[in-house]
Amino acid sequence: MLSFWERNSFINYDYIIIGGGLLGLSTACEIKERFPNKDVLILERGVLPSGASTKNAGFLCYGSLTEILADIRNKGEDETVSLVEKRWKGMNKLRVRFRDENIGFVNSGEYELIDERYISSLDEITKVNSLLKEIFKDEETFRCDRSYIERFGFSPEVVKNIIYSPYESQIDTGRMMRAAIRYAVSLGVVYLTGAEVAEFTEKSDGVEVYVEHNVFHERIGFKSSALIICANAFSSSLTGNYFPKPARGLVIITKPLDMVKLNGIYHYDEGYYYFRNYGNRVILGGGRNLDFQGEETTAFGINDKIYKALLEFLGEVILPYTEFEVDVVWSGIMGFTENKLPQVKKISDRVFSAVSCNGMGIALSSVVAEDVVKELPA
Ligand SMILES: Cc1cc2nc3c(=O)[nH]c(=O)nc-3n(C[C@H](O)[C@H](O)[C@H](O)COP(=O)(O)OP(=O)(O)OC[C@H]3O[C@@H](n4cnc5c(N)ncnc54)[C@H](O)[C@@H]3O)c2cc1C
Repeated sequence: MLSFWERNSFINYDYIIIGGGLLGLSTACEIKERFPNKDVLILERGVLPSGASTKNAGFLCYGSLTEILADIRNKGEDETVSLVEKRWKGMNKLRVRFRDENIGFVNSGEYELIDERYISSLDEITKVNSLLKEIFKDEETFRCDRSYIERFGFSPEVVKNIIYSPYESQIDTGRMMRAAIRYAVSLGVVYLTGAEVAEFTEKSDGVEVYVEHNVFHERIGFKSSALIICANAFSSSLTGNYFPKPARGLVIITKPLDMVKLNGIYHYDEGYYYFRNYGNRVILGGGRNLDFQGEETTAFGINDKIYKALLEFLGEVILPYTEFEVDVVWSGIMGFTENKLPQVKKISDRVFSAVSCNGMGIALSSVVAEDVVKELPA
């Protein structure tokens, strides 16, 4: 049973956001920055955010050469360039909003490992550079340099060339999410965790959003003028949409090593493998392309086949001359659409959804948040 005080101060808002990941937080910040007097509530089901935002590998990126080429094949040049531009804009907005010093920002560039299968992509560097020239104000966003193979200690049997791009960066995912929560709360956003939304109903004067109180085991109906669903891969039951489809991703971090030659973020195989240094540890993620079907799940867990492949890649390609031990392994759940584009939808006059950053939400959340906030009723 709610007290008089709870009913007066905790129940009514202008906007309610379902999902306390990076996109939910960015949306809340966008609202408060534009309309400081609006009251905003975020409802997050987990004690900690429980989707992708605290589970990724901490890459601030817009796409490697082979990934961009794959996107061009699937979506065409114009849409691919516009997506890269959005990612770049989003990366910069995130840095300004949450501040470099709070998110562990380090710009040491991006390197892509090219094996035998992708050698022909080197012939397309000039074309891609000319497509991206206006975005980065650079004639040479991507440049090829074989000397990096030796510098970083990669296996020359597998890695035949390296493509470098200076604009991608590393962040500390945990610090970034704490900074995002801290900033949102400093703007006046109410961030409630352990608050899983079971359902909502639309009424003539607003939306009522129901959460089971985990102590009193009774349903609380939070009220707002409008609702924004930012539950990403878990949103289908709330939006009634088939997309986004869930896509699980696996990440490994090694124990500290005596010496790490890596310095930056690294991609391989159209971005399906990605790794970086974190101090003198190595973080490696990916391999979803080895079992797309098995990874289309909202269940957190470790896919043995992918884990084995990542360990093999780590031992044979990244650290071929170094002993290492794995410290932590974890998974996160992303949301994907068919065309790999984020989805902002007006479901009704009062209900909106912003989901599916397609594995690029660190870069995209800030601009997707802008898009959904433009749609909201005043
Ligand atoms: C392994 C991995 C690697 C990645 N690599 C990169 C990368 O290199 N670059 C990049 O830009 N991005 C990367 N990403 C993607 C990025 O992390 C996501 O795109 C981004 O975090 C999505 O944020 P979100 O807020 O939309 O979703 P989420 O972080 O999933 O947030 C959704 C939230 O909604 C909550 N929720 C769900 N249902 C309910 C409910 N009924 N009631 C209340 N709350 C609910 C969930 O608990 C969750 O916290 C990666 C992700 C993973 C997992």
